[in-house]
Amino acid sequence: MSLATSLRAPLPVLGHDVQVPLANGEKVGYAALDYAASSPALQRVWDDVAAYAPYYGSVHRGAGYLSQLSTDLFEQSRRTVAEFLDLREGDQVVFTRATTDSLNLLAGAVPAGTQVFAFETEHHASLLPWAHAGLPVTYLRAPRSHAEAVAAFDEALTGAPEGPKLLCVTGASNVTGELWPVAELTRTAHRHGARVVLDAAQLAPHHRVSVRELDVDWIAFSGHKLYAPFGAGVLAGRADWLDAAEPYLAGGGATRTVAREADGSVAVQWHTGPARHEAGSPNVIGVYAIASACRALTEAGFDALEARERALVARLKDGLAEIPEVRVLNLFGADSDRVGVLSFVVRGWNSSHFSAALSAEYGIGVRDGLFCAHPLVRTLLGDEEAAPSECGAPEPSLPGERSLNAIRVSFGAGTPDEHVDRFLTAV
Ligand code: PMP
Repeated sequence: MSLATSLRAPLPVLGHDVQVPLANGEKVGYAALDYAASSPALQRVWDDVAAYAPYYGSVHRGAGYLSQLSTDLFEQSRRTVAEFLDLREGDQVVFTRATTDSLNLLAGAVPAGTQVFAFETEHHASLLPWAHAGLPVTYLRAPRSHAEAVAAFDEALTGAPEGPKLLCVTGASNVTGELWPVAELTRTAHRHGARVVLDAAQLAPHHRVSVRELDVDWIAFSGHKLYAPFGAGVLAGRADWLDAAEPYLAGGGATRTVAREADGSVAVQWHTGPARHEAGSPNVIGVYAIASACRALTEAGFDALEARERALVARLKDGLAEIPEVRVLNLFGADSDRVGVLSFVVRGWNSSHFSAALSAEYGIGVRDGLFCAHPLVRTLLGDEEAAPSECGAPEPSLPGERSLNAIRVSFGAGTPDEHVDRFLTAV
């Protein structure tokens, strides 16, 4: 029986009819269950890009018709993203390469000496840019509930010295899919005069996000996880620190004027606004694709998308709960709200072998490893010695040994019921 018969059909995505070979020589339709790494592109996004492709040109400075058209579409895409995120008056949308790029940009733009706070449970893209940029970082221990997360952050802020402060927090974990108490953390931050950047890489594809309502200061996400192709992402939010910062990249497009001085030096006046951090020729197609995805998701309606995904998550959790060898990894508890992302281990199985078998025997594409969140997965596995896997070499343990990495299954707006059913049958 169809699990979501009363709900809307999945959105059409690329690759839904790709046939892949199984170990027994048969072929089967590919079940893409690795949306958390990269989601398939919406057919609608692909069609929009294909329709635009013959017309694209360089943006901003071209005098020709196609350059003018591309410039209009590029800037219109910025407004579409601003609407999608429900930004406040005065907020900026800076186009980047992806979430990692957005957070590294921000790390280089915050005032010198900004005290950064991050839970050790963050994806490496949210965990690492701050110290890499030379900022002092307080790493908060993995909390086991929303209340504990807010209390730990509050306590850390209470003892923090004067000066600018920033919390970087994920909206939904890329390992457990669990939602984080973003609004509460932001209220706490603002009470202490700290700012917040939301890593929405896993949240934005699954939930309506309102920057205005959450009140976060910045938000970052990636096009390739939001049903658009690779290569473009977004950093959006408050303009003040971005306008005061050194440009992310030095080069054309970020400059108002560049002049050779009498003393032989070169004097530069940089733009303020998004252009300041978008030097070089931008990824016009990637940006256009993100805007197309934002429109498509908005038109499909997040109420309907979320309802369908909740039903799939419930089906998945119920199905896995019936298999005694399976242990689902949760930070906040089995009943915590989550997006369509779930990691687990199977007693007696090496996670890499298990994932390879899902592919070879059932045509199912999941992911195994530590998911670029090593401290979190180690905490969840209760194994401080976990070997690097996704972001390093595969670990070699044998079936029957303790799990050193996990298996992640993830899905979204394009996932048919059959993929989740097939996955449960296979497990
Ligand atoms: N944050 C989270 C929560 C993620 O899941 C990811 C990607 N796995 C990133 C950041 C980094 O995104 P990207 O690789 O697109 O830069």
